[in-house]
Amino acid sequence: MLDGALRHNPRYFTEGAYGPFRALPRLLDLLARHEMPATFFIPTWVVEQWTESCAAILRAGHEVAYHGHHHEFFRDLTPERQLEVMQRSREVFRSRLGVVPSGFRTPSGDWTAQTPSLLREFGIRYSSSMRGEDRPYFHPAPEGAVPLVELAGRWDMDDYTSLAYFEDPAFPTGHDRISDYRAVLANWCAEFEGYHAEGLFWTTILHPKVSAKPARLAILDGLFSTIRKHDDVWLTTLDQIARWSLQQAGYPAGQEPS
Ligand SMILES: [Zn+2]
Repeated sequence: MLDGALRHNPRYFTEGAYGPFRALPRLLDLLARHEMPATFFIPTWVVEQWTESCAAILRAGHEVAYHGHHHEFFRDLTPERQLEVMQRSREVFRSRLGVVPSGFRTPSGDWTAQTPSLLREFGIRYSSSMRGEDRPYFHPAPEGAVPLVELAGRWDMDDYTSLAYFEDPAFPTGHDRISDYRAVLANWCAEFEGYHAEGLFWTTILHPKVSAKPARLAILDGLFSTIRKHDDVWLTTLDQIARWSLQQAGYPAGQEPS
């Protein structure tokens, strides 16, 4: 969606631009207040446009990870094009922010059959793209190779499903109203408590431009406070969870991507 098609839709574009420009500083302050580390999946076009905002994410101790360059839909790209996007993103992360990320979340939430092995061969440690598990798992890999870890997310914890509204284009499809904020907070806290009760892996799909708006920050504040009430939760970045998962299974997990 950052491929130029939005040039003719500036109103929609500015909905997204609100993220790095206004919402992100607010979210970083809230995360700092709760001493909560996070992983930010960033299209590298955004890194080019708002380099200083993205540098602030790293300075605050959070992780950054791959999310396409123009937020490309990986399911529509050939493996060659997918690789080109990854290479371009790596170059931008390296030159603008001085880091080489280890994680990937597919823009659009889907990919092609070749993507997991392409990511593994590219040196990616984990993906957070699929939906069907509440524990870390490994994508199939050849004998002797370190597998790609999958840290699945869920629609239940995607802020688009309850808080996004765009008149034109109508996205997400089939959704056109914003939910009651009190209900969203209750739902999200219930989601966390359910996972906590069973001792599972839990993550979110939150977008600064959607949930780090002034009134909505109270939802995140309430959610983070609920999480913080527990002293038996490992709050960490996805990379740390991927490393732990590999170590538990007897794989080497310490290697830095390059
Ligand atoms: Zn995205």
